[in-house]
Amino acid sequence: MDWPRIRTDFPILDQQVHGHPLVYFDNAASSQKPRSVIEALVHYYQCDNANVHRGLHELSMRATDAFEAVRGKVARLIGAAREEEIVFTRGTTESVNLVAQIWAQQFLKAGDVILLTGMEHHSNLVPWQLAAKRSGAVLKHIPVLEDGTLDLSTLDSLMTEQVKVFSCVHISNSLGTMNPVRELCARARAVGAMTLIDGAQAVGHVPVDVQAIGCDFYAFSGHKMCAPTGIGALYGRYALLESMDPWHGGGEMINRVTLETSDYKAPPARFEAGTPDIAGVIGLGAAIDYLNSIGIAAIEARCAELTKLAYTRMSELPGIRLLGPESPRGALVAFALECAHPHDLVEFANTQGLALRGGHHCTQPLMKRFKVPGTSRASFYFYNTEAEVERMMDILHQAVTFFS
Ligand code: PMP
Repeated sequence: MDWPRIRTDFPILDQQVHGHPLVYFDNAASSQKPRSVIEALVHYYQCDNANVHRGLHELSMRATDAFEAVRGKVARLIGAAREEEIVFTRGTTESVNLVAQIWAQQFLKAGDVILLTGMEHHSNLVPWQLAAKRSGAVLKHIPVLEDGTLDLSTLDSLMTEQVKVFSCVHISNSLGTMNPVRELCARARAVGAMTLIDGAQAVGHVPVDVQAIGCDFYAFSGHKMCAPTGIGALYGRYALLESMDPWHGGGEMINRVTLETSDYKAPPARFEAGTPDIAGVIGLGAAIDYLNSIGIAAIEARCAELTKLAYTRMSELPGIRLLGPESPRGALVAFALECAHPHDLVEFANTQGLALRGGHHCTQPLMKRFKVPGTSRASFYFYNTEAEVERMMDILHQAVTFFS
């Protein structure tokens, strides 16, 4: 694979920050966008812009075709059985909230158990806390071991008939841990629990097959996989989506409306009230085309190479603590330096043109578990390079000298 040429597809990477070449290692927060995605947005607004679905004129039909074609692309990317199982949302957060509100309000009752893990992003924790409050259900968590993996020895006691919801992150944004989602969903299914996987760090990074995983729902965001911000999807097994009440009421999600009552369209339209983010969806489609042109397996292998190099080199730094298992891991390394608070380190790195992220990474309970106020995180995508990893090491060595 010609990775140097692929890098040139990302015009933003070719710039100086504070007098140094930009090294963008904040991909787990949001990836950069290739030219083809940016051009797809411009093309839509310059040539096809119109509202979707209701129009009988040329532009509306073009916009509708472009918009709806993306549903199939998403379905194929994640192995859904049919494209009607894909609901467009603003991203992972909105997808989880949809399920934690609508599914939960219909099917959760007092005393039921919602089983999560100790490494969930707040967006797969707070919505369930709200659902528990509303329903009287009880929240439980699979604990995290010192090495950053889940303590699966607790499953026998935690995965009981009372568990009605099991939800966990596919790849942890704070540890890099790749959870055994297939095995976990099988255990959850065996006790009759509904399953939802948070795939924010997985889709576009590793091959994802929702049918092989065996989950009921799968949530992800476009902006971490080369698509625009504000767009993502919820996969839901069709029979489950069909059994659920609508979420937002409004245009597009109804068949017939009287002043008193309405009846609702079948999924996915039932969950997509109002004018959607048409450009965002088209951008998501362009991102999927782009990623497929490289190949998800090649992307996974490239990210694993960069991550392995970074992990090995970083473990040589004096006074560093690396969190999460060495391997397998997602494309990130989170760490704590004895000599510097993460915010101070990230500010120092910024003066050298290096974009890291420091803080709790929306996983405050996990930071408490590891007894750190926060961590610094370097996260990679396929357009990063070995030379950038070496440049980060130079900057981290300078930081150790500076702060010690
Ligand atoms: N889950 C995980 C594991 C994440 O990394 C993120 C983004 N940091 C989210 C959920 C939330 O994604 P979004 O903000 O795109 O809704």
